[in-house]
Amino acid sequence: MDSVGVAAAAPDAGPGPAWQSKCPWGAPSTTSISCSLADVMSEQLAKELQLEEENAAFPEAVAAAEGPYITGENIDTSSDLMLAQMLQMEFDREYDAQLRREEKKINGDSKVSISFENYRKVHPYDSDSSEDEVDWQDTRHDPYRADKPTTTPRRGFIGKGKDITTKHDEVVCGRKNTARMENFAPEFQVGDGIGMDLKLSNQVFNALKQHAYSEERRSARLHEKKEHSTAEKAVDPKTRLLLYKMVNSGMLETITGCISTGKESVVFHAYGGNATEDKVIPAECAIKVFKTTLNEFKNRDKYIKDDYRFKDRFSKLNPRKIIRMWAEKEMHNLTRMQNAGIPCPQVVILKKHVLVMSFIGQDQVPAPKLKDVTLSSEDMKKAYYQILNMMQQLYRECNLVHADLSEYNMLWHDGKVWLIDVSQSVEPTHPHGLEFLFRDCRNVSQFFQKGGVAEALNERELFNAVSGLNITADNEVDFQAEIEALEKMNEDHVQNHGKKLSTFSSDGDPPIYDE
Ligand code: ADP
Ligand code: MN
Repeated sequence: MDSVGVAAAAPDAGPGPAWQSKCPWGAPSTTSISCSLADVMSEQLAKELQLEEENAAFPEAVAAAEGPYITGENIDTSSDLMLAQMLQMEFDREYDAQLRREEKKINGDSKVSISFENYRKVHPYDSDSSEDEVDWQDTRHDPYRADKPTTTPRRGFIGKGKDITTKHDEVVCGRKNTARMENFAPEFQVGDGIGMDLKLSNQVFNALKQHAYSEERRSARLHEKKEHSTAEKAVDPKTRLLLYKMVNSGMLETITGCISTGKESVVFHAYGGNATEDKVIPAECAIKVFKTTLNEFKNRDKYIKDDYRFKDRFSKLNPRKIIRMWAEKEMHNLTRMQNAGIPCPQVVILKKHVLVMSFIGQDQVPAPKLKDVTLSSEDMKKAYYQILNMMQQLYRECNLVHADLSEYNMLWHDGKVWLIDVSQSVEPTHPHGLEFLFRDCRNVSQFFQKGGVAEALNERELFNAVSGLNITADNEVDFQAEIEALEKMNEDHVQNHGKKLSTFSSDGDPPIYDE
């Protein structure tokens, strides 16, 4: 994919913090706040290096689910095309390996070597730079495409003396016409006449050719439509291939269906397959596929461009990689939460933009969101205190702010609340981390106050209880102003010292930071 737009815009970001001069938020509004996933994109990039480090710590989660691609089991017969493509991919790979062996044998230690490069089926630039995997849909070279048909030379005849044949020779012409049928689109049914000594008259051939072309155009139109609709659901052919691999490798038993289709992701339910030596697969899994449609990127790009921290780095990332970072981010955040004992899905595996985790729910039925479940007042109170506790743990132990916390991203299962959807979660010292926390607090407060929990703290009290800060402002406007002042202090610190404060403090104490 093209990242030119991003690269070109980079230098404009300038040396100063672009968000300070033209903050995309303006003053946070008290009513509808819609910044979520897209708004925190910058954080994703800020964490890129950290992610790389964490990758080293969680190698098993990013390891590929490699294995026998076709096991003979679980083969969905509706996906002949997919299977054929996978087989083709394997075949091409083996073919290339063989080619390399022959190349080596022929060249030996000789100083002058022959390259078989042009004969290879899988070309390095066809696949995703960093992977050893073949992206079949990127393979432009079709090894089965017939060469151009030989045509009769200009002068209109071949041969000499009595062997001379002209372009009007019926037999030669008929055979040639038959052979030319091979150049019709592959979907076009020409029967097995090509293998026979069949002679097609020019008239028949021309009629067929015309028909083949219009068929080709029709099927291209249909195909376009189909591609479009699948992209809408995030399950483009590449993603499907990834999912098939997971099933074919035995890691997943079956993918049963879609649980949720959102703007940025699609979630599927699956039954877990066989455990590997280092990993037990949960009986039921949720597969979160991050959408890779271009539309989403336009918003995200805009956001990244304005972040001065990435002017050098983001130009190197293509949109596909950025999307993978979101998936990675969710994985790392879930792992941190898991380690702190917060109820949340357990990460099973991450593969590109597809994250497999344990399923919260039972028998294919996902646990209800807090907004959809009616709890007794006792459970409601219990849920409130649990969430208060989890928010504190998240902040203090995981060093995270959920940043999209609401009754939509909390599930009620097994008599307790489970937190989900943490790809956008940020560290408290993110340039807008405290604002996100305040928004989270407002959502939680309002939900439980409306839900009749008399003990529920108001949003400002909750904010202080979670962050340990002691912001004393007794009204929303002043409170927010103080939050922003703290954020600014941190950003100034980054500017002057090249590093963040590790903790916020609001009491005029000297700032605490890591040495
Ligand atoms: P989005 O960014 O689309 O909101 P979420 O992570 O919130 O993505 O997932 C969307 C929905 O899918 C959730 O509201 C929930 O109903 C369901 N879901 C996601 N993860 C799981 C899971 N691990 N177990 C059960 N249901 C899940
Ligand atoms: Mn969600």
